Amino acid sequence: MILELSTIVSGERSLKEFCDRYKGVQVTGSLFQYLWETTNSNSDDELKISVQEWQKILIEKGYFARHIPKEFGGYGGELDIVKNSIINEEFSKAKIPDGAGGQGIDFLIPTLLEMGTDEQKQRYIKPALHLDEIWCQGYSEPNAGSDLASLQTKGVLDGDEWVINGQKIWTSTAKYAQMMFCLVRTEPDAPKHKGISYLLIPMDTPGIKD
Ligand SMILES: Cc1cc2nc3c(=O)[nH]c(=O)nc-3n(C[C@H](O)[C@H](O)[C@H](O)COP(=O)(O)OP(=O)(O)OC[C@H]3O[C@@H](n4cnc5c(N)ncnc54)[C@H](O)[C@@H]3O)c2cc1C
Repeated sequence: MILELSTIVSGERSLKEFCDRYKGVQVTGSLFQYLWETTNSNSDDELKISVQEWQKILIEKGYFARHIPKEFGGYGGELDIVKNSIINEEFSKAKIPDGAGGQGIDFLIPTLLEMGTDEQKQRYIKPALHLDEIWCQGYSEPNAGSDLASLQTKGVLDGDEWVINGQKIWTSTAKYAQMMFCLVRTEPDAPKHKGISYLLIPMDTPGIKD
């Protein structure tokens, strides 16, 4: 199958035009450098752009988060794996970076789109996608790695507050994160693979320490 690049119409007239314009772009920002360091040594200084700005440009033009609804900060298009592959291939040829992923974008957003309440979708998806709120993943524990159902961190509902006690490890990007999606055992008497809840926890909650 041959697809004309100009069939992927965006703000620029074509994907090729976009790639020509941003060829050599250097994306900066501490989280970006930590997770997705750019390696473009030929970069022109005039083409330096922050990771947040770059993410917004890509989404606006339809080159990232294409299928995430506009109301949640995405492009609002159809999920199209072929187009996504063409975009990735052209970006790679032009040596320009793709959109930023990470725990919030790759893991939290799909979960919320599938399982979240409207309120949760409205509140959390756009800031995660636009990197205004960074997330980390609190699954693994000292004795619950591959066998995640061994997790012991407990969540107890006290009035309208969850009181959480336990320990997490391997928490990538925790030092940058404002939020954590976390698995905790909320029904201690349930079978091992049940009674686990997925809680969204602000990282400045009193008691969280490394
Ligand atoms: C770089 C890095 C970043 C990570 N970031 C995060 C993060 O941000 N958040 C997070 O929650 N976790 C994170 N993890 C944890 C990761 O997702 C896995 O949960 C964890 O690495 C597996 O646990 P473990 O290393 O304790 O291995 P173990 O669970 O101790 O397993 C050790 C070995 O035994 C094997 N094994 C385990 N159980 C069995 C069994 N029942 N039968 C046969 N074989 C078995 C495993 O396959 C493995 O080879 C990260 C891990 C790495 C390496």
